[in-house]
Amino acid sequence: MSSSRVPCFVGGQLVDGGGEQFPVLDPATGRVVTSYPLAVEADVDRAVAAARAAFGGWSATTPGERSELLAALAVELRSKARELAEVETSQTGKPIKLSTGFDVPGTIDNTAFFGGAARVLEGSAAGEYSADHTSMIRREPIGVIGSIAPWNYPLQMAGWKILPAVAAGNTIVLKPAEITPITALLFAEAAQAAGFPDGVINVVPGTGSDAGRALVAHPGVDMVSFTGSTAVGRQVMAACAPRAARVHLELGGKAPFVVFDDADLDAAVHGAVAAALINTGQDCTAATRAYVHESLVEAFVDGVADLLAGLVLGDPMDPATDIGPLSSARHRDKVAAMLAAAQSSGARLIAPGKPPRRNRSGWDPAGGFWQLPTLVVGADQRSPIVQDEIFGPVLTVIGFRGDDEALALANDSPFGLAASAWTTNVRRALRASAELRAGTVWINDHIPIFSEMPHGGYGASGFGKDMSVYSLHEYSQIKHVAMDRTGAARKDWHRTIFALPDSGSRL
Ligand code: NAD
Repeated sequence: MSSSRVPCFVGGQLVDGGGEQFPVLDPATGRVVTSYPLAVEADVDRAVAAARAAFGGWSATTPGERSELLAALAVELRSKARELAEVETSQTGKPIKLSTGFDVPGTIDNTAFFGGAARVLEGSAAGEYSADHTSMIRREPIGVIGSIAPWNYPLQMAGWKILPAVAAGNTIVLKPAEITPITALLFAEAAQAAGFPDGVINVVPGTGSDAGRALVAHPGVDMVSFTGSTAVGRQVMAACAPRAARVHLELGGKAPFVVFDDADLDAAVHGAVAAALINTGQDCTAATRAYVHESLVEAFVDGVADLLAGLVLGDPMDPATDIGPLSSARHRDKVAAMLAAAQSSGARLIAPGKPPRRNRSGWDPAGGFWQLPTLVVGADQRSPIVQDEIFGPVLTVIGFRGDDEALALANDSPFGLAASAWTTNVRRALRASAELRAGTVWINDHIPIFSEMPHGGYGASGFGKDMSVYSLHEYSQIKHVAMDRTGAARKDWHRTIFALPDSGSRL
């Protein structure tokens, strides 16, 4: 597949979707990268049928066989690393140094990790838990997984969805976000080149309202794994309820960033800028709410503003570019409207950076979806800019007086995906790591993730884990097998039904 064509990948074949043509835009310029026919319900039906047909054979493979294919996929992805990075940047607008330094190597590492993890699925223990039986535990795949991914890290999200599912013996139909479909297809093609059987991995690029809805409600889908907004996650859960299908939800975030008075201020300032602006703030774990001890607020705000002033917004393909655009015009308008509302309710906006400019090679950001990184000072804790997910290059700063207040403010959110605490005091660090309600807590850092460690939310950020062996548990189910050891036609426990000669109360 060339990156200018975006078909569905179903049963090992590239087939065009049956829907309308849809343009993929370069968010940095607004220009059309490619356009493609959207997948519709009929394409989802075909993909689910292909995944169902492949399930019997795939679920019967040994962990060693699946591991070998995943290792071959990691090699295949490595050989395509440059192409993957460039395509990812062209469809998302993220700086090429983020694609080459995080998205692509992260996906390759995840693939290699699941190659190993596929072989260490526990579940073979056997033992006697009654005198008359031997019990054993079987860990089995769930079946056909329907996965829905967002647009912020399209390649990584394809990996996070596909890898644990197939490592555990399931087959999968993935619907990437319609505005960023290309790298998920390149991933599926790489899996085919690595030797994955037809139908194990299927990709249907389409809209949420059409292909997405059809996939999550499909009777042939045994489990839905969704990453996206909390609002859509609730709809997905409702769509799975009638058939009691299993759901895994990775939803929104609003991560607090708590700076205690003994923190290394320079580290906290640099950490805040990097953690708030990674992927132009379109990161579910991005630092969004800085709570800073009142003695440090002024220095913190000055330090962050100084760093913002020096950031380069520009052509995402240029290795010198620090910050890219937002993903779409609609999203940029939403972020801008939230900032305007915060300002009109009395908050101070600090945005000292320079907008991107046309460069010598003719690259022109005029039609792109740009938003200057912005610090928001003086907003009320209960205001939308502090409480609602912005998903843009925005950091709010609020002062606090004591540790109790800091932790209460940090936890004052329905979300619970990630949080960080900045302190040089080990007791504070321990208290924060215990009391911050989030699926990930960093101490003196914010953002790093590791293939071996789980990622997932508390509260309105959803439930279930991505990455790590914990994700293999999400994509498998436990069966208890109890085998009679006595050979007796009349079991001892039958006394609870039949009047046996020696029956009587055991009380
Ligand atoms: P979104 O919820 O609008 O869309 C996510 C996906 O769901 C897209 O593929 C979309 O087409 C699809 N979709 C939309 N409506 C649907 C429906 N009714 N049925 C089925 N599918 C439907 O989110 P987004 O704007 O693409 O992504 C940003 C959101 O994702 C943010 O809230 C962010 O926090 C979240 N996110 C969470 C994580 C995590 O790991 N927790 C990771 C990345 C992004």
